[in-house]
Amino acid sequence: MNHRLSPATEPRNPDPLACSRCGRLMPDGDSERDEALVVSFRAGFWSIFGDESHVEGIFCQHCLKASLGPWLRVTEGRLGDGWHEHPSARGRQLHQLPHD
Ligand SMILES: [Zn+2]
Repeated sequence: MNHRLSPATEPRNPDPLACSRCGRLMPDGDSERDEALVVSFRAGFWSIFGDESHVEGIFCQHCLKASLGPWLRVTEGRLGDGWHEHPSARGRQLHQLPHD
């Protein structure tokens, strides 16, 4: 769900993303690609995926909604409607967050 505008100099990716669930191909420049969710993380100890396993998945917006829709809170993303940026979305470690 990347809504930023790409500068003209940003290299294009010729490989389409493929949804891990339904196989939908999302080529560069397709609005579906902008709405895709890419999951990629290293699991910790005691993870149900296995200690320190790498977990990856690509999900089109349709599969995201079909899989998690009832549990997602969807708003217009405006202040005052309960929306706030999650600290992890700021690309900082928790100890780097500003103090109030
Ligand atoms: Zn899909």
